[in-house]
Amino acid sequence: MQKFAIVSKKDEKSHNVESKIRQKLEENNFVYDKTTPNLVISIGGDGTLLYAVHLYKDRMNDVKFLAIHTGTLGFFTDYTEEEIDEAINDIITNKEYEVFESRLLEGRINGEEIFYALNEIRIENICKTQILDIYIDKEFFETVKGNGMCLSTQAGSTAYNRSLKGAVIDSGLEVMQLCEIAGIQNAKHSSLGNPYIMKSDRKVSFVCDDSTGAYVCFDHIYIKSDDIKVITCKLSEKSVSFIRFKKYSYLDRLRNLY
Ligand code: NAP
Repeated sequence: MQKFAIVSKKDEKSHNVESKIRQKLEENNFVYDKTTPNLVISIGGDGTLLYAVHLYKDRMNDVKFLAIHTGTLGFFTDYTEEEIDEAINDIITNKEYEVFESRLLEGRINGEEIFYALNEIRIENICKTQILDIYIDKEFFETVKGNGMCLSTQAGSTAYNRSLKGAVIDSGLEVMQLCEIAGIQNAKHSSLGNPYIMKSDRKVSFVCDDSTGAYVCFDHIYIKSDDIKVITCKLSEKSVSFIRFKKYSYLDRLRNLY
């Protein structure tokens, strides 16, 4: 029995799409189950999909995601609202599909609770210059000064990372990318400055003496703390499984972005 849940953006358009899909699936013996779904349908945009992933982060092994966009087509979304009937039909008829896996990042602040991110982990400080010592696989790499750092996944390379002039990473490459956020480069201080794409088993640590005003962001989730000493990050064993019923190439996704 297929159990599904819907995570919808809080606007009328998305709400209407949600009602239609829920009704059609229930008419076809799908069971709405918010707690233990096997299929999560996100309706809204890429941001809504991120929200849905965080909502079900403890069920990553049991859940597959399908995303419908109610605006212009996004990066994680495969259907527009004009294609809802096609999406419903694909689900109901259990059309043959591919599963696209996207690994999550995991990060700990001061060695405590693990947080996950599909796009990126960021340390951001817009109040004062943030100084961070960066260690890669426990080896000191460099000290950076500026507004912070962004460590993104392949999936997140088209999100915040892209605004930082980081590289767009092709689908299927399992890497992480480290970018400075408004890094300071002058006669007294300089750092790599370029995006650094690293292999998937690297472990990255950000160490700071003073985190006054800093936020640590895991996609849209943010934690403010003046007592951050170290943030350790790596690619997680957990990954998000996307159902791909139809061909929608990476290049098309990319072109639809701008
Ligand atoms: P949000 O409003 O949910 O998202 C901000 C924008 O980023 C939206 O246009 C969203 O698309 C798009 N987006 C999200 N993930 C993407 C991806 N993997 N590829 C391409 N576009 C993507 O913002 P939020 O709740 O603050 O944060 C969620 C994410 O937004 C973060 O993980 C971050 O990557 C991104 N963000 C980017 C910037 C920036 O580029 N300067 C600033 C803040 C946040 P939809 O419109 O389809 O939802």
